[in-house]
Amino acid sequence: MGIDEDSLEYHRIDPPGKIEISTTKPTNTQRDLSLAYSPGVAAPCSAIDENPEDAYTYTAKGNMVGVVSNGSAVLGLGDIGAQASKPVMEGKGVLFKRFADIDVFDIELDQEDPEAIVDSVSAMEPTFGGINLEDIKAPECFEIESRLREEMDVPVFHDDQHGTAIISGAALLNAVEIAGKSLSDIEVVFSGAGASAISTGRFYVSLGVDPDNITMCDSTGIITESRAESGDINEFKEEFATEGPGGTLADAMEGADVLVGLSAGGIVDEEMVRGMAADPIVFAMANPDPEIGYEQAKAARDDTVIMATGRSDYPNQVNNVLGFPFIFRGALDVRATEINEAMKIAAAEALAELAKQDVPDAVVKAYGDQPLQFGPEYIIPKPLDPRVLFELAPAVAEAAIESGCARTEIDLEAYAEKLEA
Ligand code: NAP
Ligand code: MG
Repeated sequence: MGIDEDSLEYHRIDPPGKIEISTTKPTNTQRDLSLAYSPGVAAPCSAIDENPEDAYTYTAKGNMVGVVSNGSAVLGLGDIGAQASKPVMEGKGVLFKRFADIDVFDIELDQEDPEAIVDSVSAMEPTFGGINLEDIKAPECFEIESRLREEMDVPVFHDDQHGTAIISGAALLNAVEIAGKSLSDIEVVFSGAGASAISTGRFYVSLGVDPDNITMCDSTGIITESRAESGDINEFKEEFATEGPGGTLADAMEGADVLVGLSAGGIVDEEMVRGMAADPIVFAMANPDPEIGYEQAKAARDDTVIMATGRSDYPNQVNNVLGFPFIFRGALDVRATEINEAMKIAAAEALAELAKQDVPDAVVKAYGDQPLQFGPEYIIPKPLDPRVLFELAPAVAEAAIESGCARTEIDLEAYAEKLEA
């Protein structure tokens, strides 16, 4: 059977889908039930009424994330609508649970209007310790997220934007080090100017890339001031408009140190990689097919091409599962009011640092005994490496405390130990 049939079967087996709700307290006796529900439940209600933060003490709020989508930009499937996106959102819930023991309600909203989405989601704040926006198309996703971040006092995080930014950001920190370059000097070219590229561009600037050294291309070519003036591009692309002459992606890549592909498969050829500066960094992250294949990019040149893709069958897979479960884990555990830039940077730095550590045998085995040692073929940890939880969650929690968005302070050492146990 092919993967499609296998997956239909996986989802169809009774009970349909792949998630259910379970209870965490005894429910055997009449007494148990009168604690869980009426009349006993009035006591925690009154406590929360008096002190809203008690919701974290007496309800599941503090371990509950809402995965919210309108199904407008689902995987490679596009705008398939809210109902058809539900298997993906339930799947996201599976990953949250499997990697960080976080519970998820998936919320599919049959709604395209950003205003209405903002109203619906912000009204759900009592339910959730955090909101993971998912597969909402650009440019609406930018407005929806920034409005919700303003209005809500729990973290709101659009994973398609920031997940890629953080994980490829970690890869960038290490790639630059290995190539002997410096963040403030590198010339970075983006292929793509959508949800993930805009956010990744912004994050690289936070990490230390000079905004003047970024050139961004969309399907028309280099994004320039003159295109902005002619009203050809949206305000988010305009953030990255360059003053120079326009041109093609190939023109932009001439002499560049880094190519960040967040566009479409197969649109970069060997000639374009040959035009790049010495020891170039090529992150070709379009899914399922990268902008240029791993072998092709490597074969294009005699010097070292540091390559990452979204694929699991090649080194350096940029996979969002390396980020969101652990970033939310750390944020929830200090009852953070947001996931801010400092927390995202802390996550990227912790991931980059972890790639420099020796990899446990069990992880090496899980990946078919290929050597995993810091270098061009291993710049970010593997998704199934259990240490990612122990490293990322405390780093994010610490950054939340230091940046003043934690509602509660915790003993970070004890916290890290508890995660490992
Ligand atoms: P998006 O918002 O739809 O943006 C796509 C961008 O790519 C747009 O700016 C579009 O140009 C440009 N583009 C599309 N086809 C192109 C072509 N043939 N030549 C040049 N540019 C082209 O999508 P997204 O969510 O940012 O995702 C973009 C890609 O990155 C997808 O393949 C996605 O799977 C991948 N991705 C990978 C990861 C990962 O972790 N590996 C994470 C996120 C996204 P216009 O603006 O002119 O339409
Ligand atoms: Mg997504």
